[in-house]
Amino acid sequence: MSKLSIPVSTLGTPRIGPRRELKFALESHWSGKSSEADLLQVAAGLRRANWERQHALGVTNIPSNDFSLYDHVLDTACMVGAVPPAYGWTGGDVPLETYFAMARGSERAPALEMTKWFDTNYHYMVPEFAEGQRFELASTKPIDEFMEAKSHGFHTRPVLVGPVTFLKLGKAHGATFDPLDLLPGLLPVYVEVLRRLAASGADWVQIDEPCLALDTDAKTEGALRGAYDTFASEVPELKVMLATYFGALGDNLDTALALPVAGLHVDAVRAPEELDRVVARAPRDMVLSLGIVDGRNVWRSDLQALLGRLEPAVAARRADHVEIAPSCSMIHVPIDLELEEDLDPELRGWLAFYAQKMRELVTLGTALAEGRDAVRREIEETEIALLGRMASPRVHDATVAERLRAVTPGMDRRRNAFEVRKRLQQEALALPEFPTTTIGSFPQTAEVRKARAAHARGEWSDVAYMAFLKEETEKAIRWQEAIGIDVLVHGEFERNDMVQYFGEQLSGYAFTKHGWVQSYGSRCVRPPVIYGDVSRPQPMTLDWARYAQSLTRKPVKGMLTGPVTMLQWSFVRDDLPRSQVCRQIALALRDEVGDLEAAGIQIIQIDEPALREGLPLRREEWATYLDWAVGAFRLASSGVRDETQIHTHMCYSEFNDIIDSIAGMDADVISIETSRSRMELLEAFVAYRYPNDIGPGVYDIHSPRVPTTQEMVDLLQKAVERLSGGQIWVNPDCGLKTRGWDETRPALQRMVEAARQLREGL
Ligand code: GLN
Ligand code: ZN
Repeated sequence: MSKLSIPVSTLGTPRIGPRRELKFALESHWSGKSSEADLLQVAAGLRRANWERQHALGVTNIPSNDFSLYDHVLDTACMVGAVPPAYGWTGGDVPLETYFAMARGSERAPALEMTKWFDTNYHYMVPEFAEGQRFELASTKPIDEFMEAKSHGFHTRPVLVGPVTFLKLGKAHGATFDPLDLLPGLLPVYVEVLRRLAASGADWVQIDEPCLALDTDAKTEGALRGAYDTFASEVPELKVMLATYFGALGDNLDTALALPVAGLHVDAVRAPEELDRVVARAPRDMVLSLGIVDGRNVWRSDLQALLGRLEPAVAARRADHVEIAPSCSMIHVPIDLELEEDLDPELRGWLAFYAQKMRELVTLGTALAEGRDAVRREIEETEIALLGRMASPRVHDATVAERLRAVTPGMDRRRNAFEVRKRLQQEALALPEFPTTTIGSFPQTAEVRKARAAHARGEWSDVAYMAFLKEETEKAIRWQEAIGIDVLVHGEFERNDMVQYFGEQLSGYAFTKHGWVQSYGSRCVRPPVIYGDVSRPQPMTLDWARYAQSLTRKPVKGMLTGPVTMLQWSFVRDDLPRSQVCRQIALALRDEVGDLEAAGIQIIQIDEPALREGLPLRREEWATYLDWAVGAFRLASSGVRDETQIHTHMCYSEFNDIIDSIAGMDADVISIETSRSRMELLEAFVAYRYPNDIGPGVYDIHSPRVPTTQEMVDLLQKAVERLSGGQIWVNPDCGLKTRGWDETRPALQRMVEAARQLREGL
């Protein structure tokens, strides 16, 4: 007999497939090896498998239109015909070719911009709107996929990106206007979609408005009211589950509760404190979807604790007016833990991926309907695993705790102020003006990747692999010397990835085999899992730094990934505040910094490209975050003598609103990406009178194009006009790992030449 249950909803399922089937199908299609029909067939297969999997797991509300060939925001842009003229679309259904041109660029036009989806590591394509933009229905994907599910026997709840969030995520092209002003023209298309869905048999639709988790203004609130009033009056037969996630509703709570929608989904993981308020204040008729299982992390849920929170909520509402769900769409977690056969069983017992999390929800739903006894076995198993996790010596390392306690206030400050250090470093390093350097990595050529793969498969011995890496490093050092770079790098040939390389050498980190999550389009990442106290059993980069330095008299930079980036690009344990985990990583890195210094490395770079990504969605929480994030960087970097030069590096970042925190990091040198903005990003430093040294990137490493010497001289001159000459370093925007040597060689030669011309001009 099937058990009773409170309805369980999936807000969105991972699209890439358990074995990244979508990625491979896309890439095969893009390279011309398979047809459009082949690709669409794989996609249909994945959707069907997804629906079947949810059905088998016992999910009640199964979504459709949560699938995407590339990105759901791009899907929405196509649905409403927001295709910029450059792509040559002339109306009718947006062809797949146009869709991919918007995603990836074509001969005709570059791709749309891409940026992070709220505070996740998923990237969406930024819609572009022209002044007076017109919208029309140009893709019936939501209806098609609803019908497709129906043909397989599944009655689904289609998902749409809400019109207000959609406009707010877009940008005005060519003119300055507020995309939100386009709402009146956009709503009729949405109404048309909703009508067609209703006509096709849909009774509910999920509309995502995560903009409700952001700081909003009266205009946004008005837009939300306008949109949902329209839907309620134009398509009253279709019930709307309005979904918000990634944070508290906060001051948007009243706005959300007043909207004429049949249901509201809230993120009870990110905003646990808000649950009671929502339950108490939501209109009696409103169905509440409680996002209780973490859709952003990989930890097994504490079922008892969650039941303790859910039971009163369910009791307070009409029983048929509550659903339970993950906190947000599940595209941010890996698909199935079952595939992790090599993962240590104890650790595995602490984890839950998408499939496991949906099962947890079904268990919770049963417990809520029939009582905890109905799922006693599941609860007991979970408790045993979680008690094990709480007590495990693999999680709790007394030495790490002791070290954290022993941190004294002075430890996160350099001994002397920058002016003093600068003088001492000049004496020690004797660098010319406009010193040249690179950001760390040199091309990860096919040869390098092949060698790594062969070594990983056991086909290459450690000895052979090491010999190969040493040879690559030596070639890189010799070449940098030959072209006259001032501060050398070893090239990072031994590194697979800037986080993984360190995570693999630190205690407290684990790696999965199939734990892929979509980063953008076909690109997937496998974030490491920080499950325990982090420490450094032994030096991580010392041998390579020493070896590289032994080859040359010029300074070679030690190269580390900073604590915030190590945190930000991982799944982080949920039993400690992130700030604490970050401090643990900082202490491990501090030891590495100390070892490098002791080995005679005079310059150490600590990369923090993800610093800005960690900013909370709400402004009022920024200060707290920046305080601990900058504190962690300082803890990692401040244990050195004044003569030792600390560099940091940040790419794709804006600095205006965080410049005092950047200055607070007190790195002797910061290199940033500035070439694409033509040095505009420097303005923040100029306005702030940023005192330390800066390396504004003089060429774009994302493009194979080799810039001319003159272009780099021009950019440097712009920098000289804004900063003091003695402050400026000369370097590319970022590391060169994605480039080939054929572009890297002339580009860096010209960069060195540009620096020479500048020195002579002075
Ligand atoms: N040192 C790293 C490299 O050069 C930095 C990468 C990054 O900033 N994303 O590849
Ligand atoms: Zn970078």
